[in-house]
Amino acid sequence: MKDIFRTRRMWRPRGELKRRYDVVVVGGGAHGLATAYYLARNHGITDVAVLEKSYIGSGAAGRNTTIIRSNYRTPEGAAFYQQSVELYKGLSRELDFNLLFSQLGHLTLAHSDRALITATERAEVNQLLGIESRLVGLDEIAKLCPELDLSTEVTWPVLGALYHPPGGIIRHDAVVWGLARSADRRGVEIHPYTEVTGIERANGRVTGVRTNRGEIACDAVVSATAGWSTLVADLAGVPLPITTHILQAFVTEPLKPFLDVIIVSSQMHVYVSQTDRGEILIGAEIEPYTTYRGTSTFPFLEYSARHVLELFPQLESARVLRQWTGLCDISPDFSPILGVTEVAGFLVSAGWGTYGFKAAPIVGTTLAELVATKRTPALIAPFALERFSTDTLVSELAAAAVSH
Ligand SMILES: Cc1cc2nc3c(=O)[nH]c(=O)nc-3n(C[C@H](O)[C@H](O)[C@H](O)COP(=O)(O)OP(=O)(O)OC[C@H]3O[C@@H](n4cnc5c(N)ncnc54)[C@H](O)[C@@H]3O)c2cc1C
Repeated sequence: MKDIFRTRRMWRPRGELKRRYDVVVVGGGAHGLATAYYLARNHGITDVAVLEKSYIGSGAAGRNTTIIRSNYRTPEGAAFYQQSVELYKGLSRELDFNLLFSQLGHLTLAHSDRALITATERAEVNQLLGIESRLVGLDEIAKLCPELDLSTEVTWPVLGALYHPPGGIIRHDAVVWGLARSADRRGVEIHPYTEVTGIERANGRVTGVRTNRGEIACDAVVSATAGWSTLVADLAGVPLPITTHILQAFVTEPLKPFLDVIIVSSQMHVYVSQTDRGEILIGAEIEPYTTYRGTSTFPFLEYSARHVLELFPQLESARVLRQWTGLCDISPDFSPILGVTEVAGFLVSAGWGTYGFKAAPIVGTTLAELVATKRTPALIAPFALERFSTDTLVSELAAAAVSH
């Protein structure tokens, strides 16, 4: 009986902390777990501890709206996210865990001439990189989503859209569990309810971390703490140009499947998809104020529901089932901050805002490579922290604000 129970566990129960590891990963979300997994898988580095202050997947990794896409505005961003989509395609097989990845297509609606121009620019950048992405007119939108209200008698008539066929959704909990299970099977230790409270340094480099369960020595610390990035980086004396905001979402009761494409409207600050369970999943933009409070708000619900009803009036009598909130770490140029800091051995994955879930596999592979080789992979070089002092920002505002 005991053995059956053991084989059914997703990963080993939390053990004692050792006094030393080669690498400590702070944060048991998708990024931290992916980094630990690829350290073990790609580089044979298994003396790794993932320290998570709460339960595994308790952060944004378990609260996001699961959109995966690569139709970004900058060549740096689009190339980076494209690699992540490619890795996601093979991840179910690789982890031997069904992640329910569905590339159902992604439509970003344009309701103004300006939005059409932005969509055209994005399509051109994407096509130059071999990413499927094009501007479509009302006829094609109507075929892709016959349920969408395309009439002109509305506040924001649809004029066209950016269509990205490979865009899709994936089961977020499954990604977290699959990565954790595979990292654990390769020897990585996973320690939930273990909070990092200090980062030890000597002569400009990391020497260990303090936790609520004692001190640990290590050669490298990778912070993958998203909404808490600034707090953890402060422990290492590294200021990050990030503000933390909440992002909210809600689902309706399950309905018969009718929506098999993701719909985003930046101008109406809303996006919609239908989950495998049939729920209509609705998200919006970040709240404009900075906070760590996880309280959902009624104005968000009212505002987002009103805009969704302008796109899908037939949802008028759908009942709201659940609403929730997560933290988002926003950088000034809406691009991530990835890699080394001025403290040797202290690496960060931060600045993920509302769009970091789709990047988990590529963050994991590139940060693992950086830890193992001590060289920054070319794909993430544009996202270095130092860009804020060298004035080489990578502005993704046009493609990353509402479009997760
Ligand atoms: C409502 C919502 C919708 C979103 N929709 C999308 C989407 O559709 N597509 C997309 O790509 N992205 C989306 N995002 C963004 C995405 O979820 C995040 O960018 C991504 O999950 C960040 O992953 P992570 O692993 O870095 O962070 P998290 O999953 O937040 O993990 C960080 C972990 O660090 C832990 N931690 C913090 N401080 C400490 C400490 N001192 N010691 C130990 N542990 C600590 C936290 O408890 C947390 O579990 C959305 C976010 C939200 C909130």
